Amino acid sequence: MKFENEIENLDSVGDNHIGTSSETPMRKDAFKLSDKEKIEIIKDDVRHIMETLGLDLTDDSLNGTPNRVAKMFVNEIFSGLNPKLKPSASTFQNKYKYGEMLVEKNITVYSTCEHHLLPIVGKAHVAYISNGTVVGLSKMNRIVDYFAKRPQVQERLTIQIVKELQNVLNTPDVACVIDAKHLCVNSRGIRDIESSTVTSEFGGLFKEKSVRREFLDYIKLDTKF
Ligand SMILES: [Zn+2]
Repeated sequence: MKFENEIENLDSVGDNHIGTSSETPMRKDAFKLSDKEKIEIIKDDVRHIMETLGLDLTDDSLNGTPNRVAKMFVNEIFSGLNPKLKPSASTFQNKYKYGEMLVEKNITVYSTCEHHLLPIVGKAHVAYISNGTVVGLSKMNRIVDYFAKRPQVQERLTIQIVKELQNVLNTPDVACVIDAKHLCVNSRGIRDIESSTVTSEFGGLFKEKSVRREFLDYIKLDTKF
């Protein structure tokens, strides 16, 4: 009975999209296998799922799917689990003495809900106030992309982006807002096509109302190019 309750609890944690920690829960032996070995194992697992569903994998259209999905998991959509692929932390000195807020907005987010393994699609807006160190603009996009390429919970993704930039820039004054659609909500379950989820993390000076307001006002700017 206790066991059944635990399973029910775990189900409701997932269905309600509750994250449990700001670190991605990883096993200690996560990198004992090479990527090639992982692809081979996952390939068999995907084949097993498809066969269990009753699909005929001798069909030309389905034959390559297990291998394709395995490669996509390891090399693409979950490649951000590998710390070796974290964007390098090259920073520059702020020679032009720009001391205002820098906002990189509308960064595309493609991630995967860790509760249903369905896509999360949206935009991230990231800001920081330099204390003398700056990063290349594309670095912010790369950091978002790196943490997005994991099974994720949107709250955790938001926090991981902020923590990483705080680390790289050596300042607490970093903020991130993510507005994203979860296909597990839009296409199944409650099937709400219109809803999206907004999460935010405000570090250091961004906890101050006026600074936070400024950031949110920049995000609202609808620039036409
Ligand atoms: Zn989900």
